[in-house]
Amino acid sequence: MSKDVLVFIECKEGTVRKASLELLSKGKEITEKFSSYLYAVVIGYQIKGIAEGLKSFSDKVIAVDNESLKDYRWDTYMTVLEQLIKKYTPGMVFGASTITGKDMFPRLAARLNGAIISDAVGIDLDGENVRIKKPLFGGKIISWVVCKPGSTSLISFRPNSFSIEKRSLNGELIEETVEAPRDSRLNILSIDKSGSKKVDIQEADFIICGGRGMKGPENFQILEEIADIMGGRVGASRAVVDSKWREYDDQVGKSGKTVSPKLYIGCGVSGALHHTMGMDTSKVIVAINKDPNAPIFQYADYGIVDDLFNILPFLKEELKRAKEEI
Ligand SMILES: Cc1cc2nc3c(=O)[nH]c(=O)nc-3n(C[C@H](O)[C@H](O)[C@H](O)COP(=O)(O)OP(=O)(O)OC[C@H]3O[C@@H](n4cnc5c(N)ncnc54)[C@H](O)[C@@H]3O)c2cc1C
Repeated sequence: MSKDVLVFIECKEGTVRKASLELLSKGKEITEKFSSYLYAVVIGYQIKGIAEGLKSFSDKVIAVDNESLKDYRWDTYMTVLEQLIKKYTPGMVFGASTITGKDMFPRLAARLNGAIISDAVGIDLDGENVRIKKPLFGGKIISWVVCKPGSTSLISFRPNSFSIEKRSLNGELIEETVEAPRDSRLNILSIDKSGSKKVDIQEADFIICGGRGMKGPENFQILEEIADIMGGRVGASRAVVDSKWREYDDQVGKSGKTVSPKLYIGCGVSGALHHTMGMDTSKVIVAINKDPNAPIFQYADYGIVDDLFNILPFLKEELKRAKEEI
């Protein structure tokens, strides 16, 4: 098996997702060290423009353009990717740990009889070995998993694990035609896009998350205003979503989304394990809670012990002022 890296590109509304560009940036850093190739694989319909744009980030762009691949389905996309992996034999396949990545990568690993490391947050080279950083037990343990040489490893990384480096490569565009029969057991009745908001929560650099301490849905307005100032997103704990104060799309945690923003601010969130499992790899964590013993403070880089209703108006004004000064 080669030391080539193949990145599965995810697109949303005609543009490449930020998480995929992060993977290409990291993939290039690794393939440069190994003097191997970086492949970007983009699957869909009428994706020529997207494929062209990826040439500056990769050595080879493989585009599979077919009307039957217009919308993501695990059966067709997985079959395409499986065939490409068999043909190009990369040592590592990177994908984002998004809903699509989580849906497809484990199935693909089973198809290939290969290894999978999911929800990783880092990668490191130790001589010829590649080590993958993966949190376990809700982030209580950080493990380093060594990819076995000689076989293909599938690795899904949390969005925001790496920074995007703009490159000006001029990769080769390879247009592949791959048969992708549908699995008759899967019938998609409709696609509900009502949950899609300005910034995808998994790719947001800034998240302000409200918990039960917000007291009611009307109080999330100030969180929306702060998120707007920062160009980020409002998140919610499950207690909030279960109370129907916010949509499920906002939920952070084990049964919600795993997020890793540059800055996470938890407001009236207690920090239960099922919540922190989804946000503990945030780069900077700030907690506002009136209970000094709230578990969230064990994860926080900065903690404010106070009533959040005293703090939030002040925080909003300060952020607005700071933003205006930039
Ligand atoms: C299988 C399973 C999966 C789960 N998945 C998730 C998940 O994905 N995401 C998730 O979040 N939870 C999940 N949970 C639920 C989780 O265990 C907690 O119950 C939930 O996270 C608690 O939400 P909370 O912090 O908003 O509420 P609470 O635990 O009730 O905490 C509210 C906090 O607000 C503080 N507070 C109250 N008023 C104020 C005020 N005025 N100012 C400042 N602070 C104030 C309180 O001190 C308290 O710490 C899951 C549970 C199970 C069993």
